[in-house]
Amino acid sequence: MGEPKIKAVSQSMDTIKSINPATLEVLGEVPNMDARQVAEAVRAARAVQKSWEAVGFAKRRESLLCVRDAILDDIDAIADIISKENGKPILEAIGNDIMPVMDLITYFAKNAEKLLRKETIKLGKWNFLGRKSHLEFYPLGVVGVIAPWNFPFSIPMGEVAMALVVGNTVVLKPSEYTPLVGKKIKDIFDKAKFPQDVVRLVTGDGMTGAALTKAGCDKIAFTGSVNTGKKIMAACADTLTPVTLELGGKDPFIVFKDADLDVASSAAVWGAFCNSGQVCASVERVYVEESVKDEFTRMVVEKTNKIRQGIGQSSDVDVGSMTAEMQIKKVEQHVEDARKRGAKILTGGERNRDFKGYFYKPTVLTGVDHSFPIVAEETFGPVLPIMGFKTEDEAVTLANDSAYALNAYVWSGDVGKAKRAASRIVAGTVNVNESLFTHALAQTPWGGPKASGIGRTHGANGLMDLVQVRHVHVNSVVKKKNFFWWYGYSAEKVDMMKALMTALFSRKGGRIKAFFKFVRMSLGAKVN
Ligand code: NAD
Repeated sequence: MGEPKIKAVSQSMDTIKSINPATLEVLGEVPNMDARQVAEAVRAARAVQKSWEAVGFAKRRESLLCVRDAILDDIDAIADIISKENGKPILEAIGNDIMPVMDLITYFAKNAEKLLRKETIKLGKWNFLGRKSHLEFYPLGVVGVIAPWNFPFSIPMGEVAMALVVGNTVVLKPSEYTPLVGKKIKDIFDKAKFPQDVVRLVTGDGMTGAALTKAGCDKIAFTGSVNTGKKIMAACADTLTPVTLELGGKDPFIVFKDADLDVASSAAVWGAFCNSGQVCASVERVYVEESVKDEFTRMVVEKTNKIRQGIGQSSDVDVGSMTAEMQIKKVEQHVEDARKRGAKILTGGERNRDFKGYFYKPTVLTGVDHSFPIVAEETFGPVLPIMGFKTEDEAVTLANDSAYALNAYVWSGDVGKAKRAASRIVAGTVNVNESLFTHALAQTPWGGPKASGIGRTHGANGLMDLVQVRHVHVNSVVKKKNFFWWYGYSAEKVDMMKALMTALFSRKGGRIKAFFKFVRMSLGAKVN
């Protein structure tokens, strides 16, 4: 039997088949929507946006809590389709995809209104001139969410829920590798009795995503690869559509010799192989202080060899299949390149042929450095390269020597030292004595600089990326008099302006004299 024809790269196909990457069984089929269908979805979402905004926070909060109820009622079916379509173990589907969404909905339902409360700006001396400023936050309009396949539920659901809570409507484009999870998300909103068109789903491949960037959304919230992120930014430049780009990572994991090596090695193994290493925050580069490197490596290999690989729907499986042929091929290329250049593969290093689908054995290797693609580029697979360092400075330099800067991990028994190193690492998040985890925290910002993207999701910063800011400025004192800087320009007014500058900013003295000069002149100033 040949491999099913799936994974469209052009829109020559009207439908996209979804397959189970562990068994290569066909799971279902969805429409591969074109630009006309995408534009219709955006138009429909726009038509209901004002009414969704107008219902207010209390109603939106209640609607989102109904979504949470709908998820809880259907947890087994949701976990099953996530696991089948993505390949991950059922525990990860529940723990890493569904659980964070439940918490995120709870957090933003409860706190969004407070986080977006009207905010007074302190104007300092200008307050004395009777000026007051405040900020108001209001929805952007229609947010286009374009999602990847690695967390096919938690990433889009989290972004959709956050966009909705502040009064935006949403058009969601799930990955072509996990469209049935996308459909499930839409079903959940329908079951929760969301008003029609507040959430629209457009299924399809990259062309459908590209159409969404051109369909007049007020924001594109994208999570995916750097290459696609660049294309989206270029497409959005045309209409000045703002973008949030959550892109790749190559996260360093530093282990100082005073770390608890047993715990740190378990954390590294889980952080590298969870979701078959297909996590933007995966542990992708490990640096261990030389004196404990061998012992740490031995522990990592021993623990990796105990990992049970298999079909994700069995509850006693630790690592499932990868999600796509193209992704497993990239892992093979990186490992083969490393092997050819003399790296030592301590365990794994090949596909797991016990299964039909895309299984790659959890792989640990040493003898690599920053000239190897497996260290410099995002692998996004179950590989764990281990390198050494001698000093804290060297560890920080190695961690920062990357095109990416999403997350970093520092392990030490001395939390002060770990925090000191953390503060020198360029990254969106630096974790001390932790592995993965913080994407699941709705309260904290997610995202990173360099090639890891632009903007933030989650936390107050993420919410700010989903609203417009309106600054309201009120002049409440001077009502009857025009201002001297208005028309009627003259040499006298130039002098007044200079006197005011001296009164406000001079560090050489003469401020009081200048102030009185300014007041004297302003009392006699003529205005139109
Ligand atoms: P991808 O860029 O191939 O695809 C992501 C989405 O973009 C898909 O829905 C796809 O159909 C769509 N798309 C493709 N071409 C498009 C175009 N020209 N215009 C608009 N949309 C288009 O990424 P992927 O393989 O699905 O995801 C893996 C990548 O995502 C990895 O690099 C990973 O690090 C990154 N990722 C980042 C985060 C984060 O939070 N920073 C989280 C998860 C994944």
